[in-house]
Amino acid sequence: MRFDCPLKTEEELLEFQLKGLRWTVDHAYRGSDHYRRKFDEKGIRPEDIKGLEDLKKLPFTTSKDLQDGYPFPLRSVPFHDIVRIHASSGTTGKRKVLCYTAKDVDDWANMFARCYEYAGCTPEDRIQIAVGYGVWTAGWGFQNGCERFGAMSIPIGPGNMDMQCQFLVDFETTVICCTASMGLLLAEEIERRGLKGKIPLKKMIFGSERSSDAMRRRISELSGIPLDELYDIPGLTELYGPGTGLDCKYHRGIHYWADYYILEILDPETLEPVKPGEVGEMVVTTLRKEASPLIRYRTRDLTRLITERCPCGSIMPMHDRIMGRSDDMFIFRGVNIYPSHIDEILSKTKGVGSEYQIILERKEDGKDYMVVRVEKREDVPEGEDKNIEMAIEKEIKRQLLVTPTVEVLHYGSLPRSERKTKRVFDNRE
Ligand code: ZN
Repeated sequence: MRFDCPLKTEEELLEFQLKGLRWTVDHAYRGSDHYRRKFDEKGIRPEDIKGLEDLKKLPFTTSKDLQDGYPFPLRSVPFHDIVRIHASSGTTGKRKVLCYTAKDVDDWANMFARCYEYAGCTPEDRIQIAVGYGVWTAGWGFQNGCERFGAMSIPIGPGNMDMQCQFLVDFETTVICCTASMGLLLAEEIERRGLKGKIPLKKMIFGSERSSDAMRRRISELSGIPLDELYDIPGLTELYGPGTGLDCKYHRGIHYWADYYILEILDPETLEPVKPGEVGEMVVTTLRKEASPLIRYRTRDLTRLITERCPCGSIMPMHDRIMGRSDDMFIFRGVNIYPSHIDEILSKTKGVGSEYQIILERKEDGKDYMVVRVEKREDVPEGEDKNIEMAIEKEIKRQLLVTPTVEVLHYGSLPRSERKTKRVFDNRE
């Protein structure tokens, strides 16, 4: 594989990471007023970083640092070395703007080419890139990666189903890159137009949005693309953009490119590492990023490390899919709980609908109580409520080690909203 990490063993990888870490710390200290000030406040000098374990001495970087430094936060090189900027869509507060040197752009293309390689693409493939092109990272990432990889790119952008389907037929597209939601729409169109089995499309690569198992199954059924040929590419604007990892054809987890960045999984409250395999916040430190290096950047995204090795033999470690945001976490009887974890348990319980609420209360005995109110599906008979309640209580207790009270409600009795629905009601002081 041309773009795979050239290192052969985990020891070599750790050695490489240490070199990258030391370079990054030195580079950021010399190049960025922001980083130098933060290091000085903590009394850290670049030469204090002697081993990978010294990473924990370094100060964290947060999205607030990016906002405070607007418009060119974390910039660690002179402007004449910057060849491009990208920005996030900026849903909260100011946009996050990141600078790139020519080498950053080049490194990113190599990383992304590796994604295509891990997804089993070849230079014979014709890759229809149906994500947005603009100041954000999506289109550019997929495009540059495709060109670097050497496949034929079809930079169509999102939407316009007629043109998408016409291109699938006329250009004999073999791979389509889009969001999972668009993948579903496209799969419906393929089915509706009778194209299933008649076009050479054989893979989909999803960016920027996590795809649920149910969604993947539906896309596969409708489009005729085998389930194991649907791939997820995670990506953060702060960390180059999409293309920093991919789940390989075994789908055991997302391989992340540990020769470009170090991933720590930390408890978002204590900021100490969680036990291997436990859920925590992704904190990233780049190893070669020049223009806007990241040092212990708190992504707020939650995931866990996958501790077993992948059958593909890659030494690139794996993390699980993104399970939500650490901002949503609450502490109940000493346990860190993420609503997404309860969501996952509910969605696997038979007879349960998609709407639920979590209510936290402190009673007169001074103890905390949790009530999970959940709607059943329309077709569930009255007599089933008790069984559903018991099944959920048991599963929450088994997985989260806390015992809630579960109330099963009629379908349609909880409020719905087009925006983000409030699900956690913390009534404890
Ligand atoms: Zn693998």
